[in-house]
Amino acid sequence: MSEDYYKILGVSKDASEDEIKKAYRKLAHKYHPDKKGGDEAKFKEINSAYQVLSDAKKRQQYDQFGSGFDQPGGAGGAGGFSGFSDFGDFAQDSSNGGWEFNFGGSQQGSAGGFEDIFSDVFRSAGFGGRSSAQQPIGSDIAVDVDVTFEEMAKGVEKDIQLYKKVKCSYCDGTGAEDKKMKTCSQCKGTGKITKTVRTIFGNIQQQVVCDKCHGAGKVPEKKCKHCGGDGVIKESQTVKVKIPAGIENGQTIKVTGQGEAIQGGLAGDLYITVHIASDDRFTREGNNIVSEQELRFTQAVLGDVVKVQTVHGETKVKIPAGTQPGDILRIKGKGIHREGYFNKGDHLIKIKVKVPNKLNSEQSEVVERLKELGL
Ligand SMILES: [Zn+2]
Ligand SMILES: [Zn+2]
Repeated sequence: MSEDYYKILGVSKDASEDEIKKAYRKLAHKYHPDKKGGDEAKFKEINSAYQVLSDAKKRQQYDQFGSGFDQPGGAGGAGGFSGFSDFGDFAQDSSNGGWEFNFGGSQQGSAGGFEDIFSDVFRSAGFGGRSSAQQPIGSDIAVDVDVTFEEMAKGVEKDIQLYKKVKCSYCDGTGAEDKKMKTCSQCKGTGKITKTVRTIFGNIQQQVVCDKCHGAGKVPEKKCKHCGGDGVIKESQTVKVKIPAGIENGQTIKVTGQGEAIQGGLAGDLYITVHIASDDRFTREGNNIVSEQELRFTQAVLGDVVKVQTVHGETKVKIPAGTQPGDILRIKGKGIHREGYFNKGDHLIKIKVKVPNKLNSEQSEVVERLKELGL
């Protein structure tokens, strides 16, 4: 059943603001619950009707729903609002902001205490401040980028070449030659058009962004020669992207607003998937970098100083006497310096000891002597 606010106030559909106000005052006076013979339910009903009809914008929206808009809450007082509440959720779910249904946004002038309460009801039902026109968003772009192991470890800035839609600089994205615009004939300059949408409440009228002018309310007088009126053109562009140190293979970086541009809307996003090349010298263990170091058995036995390659350059490392195969030597802070991590990664050296498989006669003699000495 449909609640008729006009009927509740006893006015005609084309009643003036003044007539509505007068009718409301008279009825509110009559049914005020503090009065003898007052009727709280009736009073609330009058208030809810006035809440809508006294506001030009709300009234217009109410009129738009027509009889197709059926409030499941039924007639009478606050119960009627549950219908609105459900409807608010619906609008939120389905329209992505294309809906403009601004109950509770503005305050009523001449109202009593009840109106404030009702304003709150409207607000809590989710009608306040719903954003108006839905902006179109350009397409996203996905690209792959290759980095070396060292680049991964240290972080790198990459130039990424894109051939993408960008705002036409000749018409500043307006799509108009000499930027001359005229009012859109489809939406009459409002930027919105009304569509009939089927819902559980029946057919309702929904306002959506005008597809002819993309919500601008204006269209080019003459289309821009460079972009053909699209407001965007395809162009090669270089985007600098910072690849943070320690990124994982296959990880994706999102760069907001670097996708394709679109007229009258926001550019899409750029998604960069990072591929890390393997390196013969290094492997990764968390934020540490691991390399292998092969020692002659005399180096392992007697100790030595060797040069070790790290991603941060070559460094000299002291091998202690008696180093065992499989020992791990640590060079502090020469691993991955990851942003947001207090501790820098280290460089770990895994020791291998080479056992000679061929000895000349002199070497053989000495090793035989070592054997005699118990080694
Ligand atoms: Zn339009
Ligand atoms: Zn243009």
